[in-house]
Amino acid sequence: MKIGVVGTGYVGLVSGVCLASKGHEVICVDLRKDIVKKLNSGIPHIFERDLDELLKNVINKNLFEATNDLIYALNSSDIILLAVGTPSENGKIDLSQIKKASQEIGEYIRDNDKFISIVVKSTVVPSTTDSFVKNIIETTSKKKLGKFGIGMNPEFLREGDAVKDFMYPDRIVMGFEDDKTKLLLEEMYKPWKCDKLLVNSRTAEMIKYSNNTMLACLISMNNELSNLASKIGGIDYLDVIEGVSLDKRWSPIIDKKRIKPSIISYFTPGAGFGGSCFPKDVQAIRTQGETIGIDMQMTNSILSVNDNQPKQVLQMLSKFSKSNKKVLLLGLSFKPETDDIRESSSIKILKLILLEGYKVIASDPIAIENTKKEINHSDLRFDSSWKKEIELNDIIIIGTNWIEYKSLKKILQKTSKKKVVIDCKRLFKSSEIVGHKYLTFGESKL
Ligand code: NAD
Repeated sequence: MKIGVVGTGYVGLVSGVCLASKGHEVICVDLRKDIVKKLNSGIPHIFERDLDELLKNVINKNLFEATNDLIYALNSSDIILLAVGTPSENGKIDLSQIKKASQEIGEYIRDNDKFISIVVKSTVVPSTTDSFVKNIIETTSKKKLGKFGIGMNPEFLREGDAVKDFMYPDRIVMGFEDDKTKLLLEEMYKPWKCDKLLVNSRTAEMIKYSNNTMLACLISMNNELSNLASKIGGIDYLDVIEGVSLDKRWSPIIDKKRIKPSIISYFTPGAGFGGSCFPKDVQAIRTQGETIGIDMQMTNSILSVNDNQPKQVLQMLSKFSKSNKKVLLLGLSFKPETDDIRESSSIKILKLILLEGYKVIASDPIAIENTKKEINHSDLRFDSSWKKEIELNDIIIIGTNWIEYKSLKKILQKTSKKKVVIDCKRLFKSSEIVGHKYLTFGESKL
């Protein structure tokens, strides 16, 4: 089957390459020339495990190409996936990239008789596909739905595990507004054996937002409770999590064996959720609700708890003499295994401590270049070889739980000078950092 993907970022590229790996012919479109050039030479412009090998593979099989030419992709495709960005603009979803792409597709449909289905893969608030996108295409093309198709296929991949998540999804949600689009979606996902849900577009959109908002809610709820535990003192919230998670509704006992689902990792206290999805998606659904007269109390609370979490690092730092203002920040990306720093809690901490006047050495295995594009400060220096910086800095903040930072424990055992370690990711248990001051979320008395 011939598939066009408009917008070749984390979602568009991973979707395009994975669909091609199943035998579909895929053309990925992007506005940026540098992205297209890199991709056609077999090099992904983003870091994602296994993506480079898979990309080279599908290019060699002539199943994948990238282009700046949308018309070329439209001429060659049965279905078009819209995977452009839907960022947050003052807490409201910014649909300008969706609007522009829909208009261009509408113009193509106006001038061509070919049937094509447009399926939104970007995260968009409920009713965007069947109203906003459909209306733009109908107005621009001067044709009614039926002459073209419309659908919505939310993406649930997680950066860092994106290829694995796309290839082995827990479910595929297919929203559609016409029968031809339904058939095309079923055909596209035929090689995947997993639960498949066929719904209308706005239900598909709502599934994505409910999914992300409920996960974000778990994180904020646990952060609030862990803040309380640390204020009371004498409680390690990790023990609390253990006790709570043993409830068999969280961790069922099947065949006398305890199953520990990965949802429990969302209980771990820390500096809050970040990334390109949770913050903007929770804001977008909150704003949509308020715009149509719903009191979004819970959703607002999820966001305000999250906004305050990074500030606790300042409280932890305030316990120590201001005369020593040198900090080594370990990790910049919003999670390990990605170079994405969008809404990263570590970046929020970095900005806060720079404002407080600290001198910062920041390190990350792959996200330094992206950070340099966003922050330029005279008190900030980057160094990817963080181990040699340990001796030179008295305060170490773990901002991202990259696995390589686990070796900090051994390095600190050999370091004679007492350090302050602030662990925002609960990478360690406090008993593991001996001879140094260890502070973390949900344990230290703030
Ligand atoms: P991204 O910013 O990485 O990529 C978007 C790409 O679209 C950019 O490369 C941009 O140049 C391109 N683009 C914009 N307008 C275009 C146009 N008119 N024609 C061609 N290209 C155009 O974004 P992303 O992280 O891939 O996210 C895309 C969508 O998927 C968003 O709605 C996001 O919420 C959703 N999503 C993202 C993730 C994730 O983990 N990143 C997961 C699930 C869903």
